[in-house]
Amino acid sequence: IEQALRHAIARSELALHYQAQVGLADWRIVRFEALLRWRHPQLGTIAPSEFVPIAEESGLIDRLGEWVLREACAEAARWPDSVHIAVNVSPKQAMSGSIANSVETALAESGLPPERLELEITETVFVSEGATAIAALRRIKALGVRIALDDFGTGYSSLAYVRRFPFDTLKIDRAFVRELCTREDTRAIVNTIVALARALAIETVAEGVEDQSQVHALREQGCDMIQGYFTARPL
Ligand code: C2E
Ligand code: MG
Ligand code: MG
Repeated sequence: IEQALRHAIARSELALHYQAQVGLADWRIVRFEALLRWRHPQLGTIAPSEFVPIAEESGLIDRLGEWVLREACAEAARWPDSVHIAVNVSPKQAMSGSIANSVETALAESGLPPERLELEITETVFVSEGATAIAALRRIKALGVRIALDDFGTGYSSLAYVRRFPFDTLKIDRAFVRELCTREDTRAIVNTIVALARALAIETVAEGVEDQSQVHALREQGCDMIQGYFTARPL
């Protein structure tokens, strides 16, 4: 897999799919999240959960991440001005520090205004050796790029993380959305996350929204945006 991945970029086997994030107040599309796919000539389409960890271990993640940023920014530059783009960034890629240059290059080449780009990063970025990554993220934020905390609620979910970096968006993990209408405790947790984000002036996106009852619950709780199969699959 590692060998094949080395050639995947050059052979144009990588592709981005885009999934809408929609405002709950007006149903307008706020942005699309770019989701990476690998169309392997023999194995077919491979999900990022399969090959991103291999790219991280083998050091290929920087090149892969650079390609994703370039491709996503170039694509978004052709969209209407009101539609933004979100790009996932591996904590490993952020820790290597090269991320800031990759972002600057992608913005310069595409002409995309920095305000239309949001980077999604998970809390793993804080767990070990966070200093380099946080410095890089601060540099990127200073450009005007937005930073989102992805998969919030899983892992450690330390409240200290929302203090260590001024996130613009908090993405409530799918695991919570799934249980939102069946478990009272989950509903209370989501309610608290939304209230916390609101108090800190951070926008909230609920991930993995699949049905109407979840939409109702999230609207009741004051969540800003939804993303999931209910509105659109990654396209
Ligand atoms: P993520 O950033 O949390 O992305 C959301 C995942 O949930 C996507 O899986 C998406 O297809 C899936 N999803 C969206 N709506 C629904 C729904 O309603 N129901 C269900 N069951 N699933 C839904 P995907 O595309 O397989 O990506 C998995 C993870 O791989 C992403 O999680 C992200 O952490 C990572 N990833 C994706 N693209 C990239 C990339 O370009 N670079 C890096 N470093 N990581 C990426
Ligand atoms: Mg994401
Ligand atoms: Mg997520």
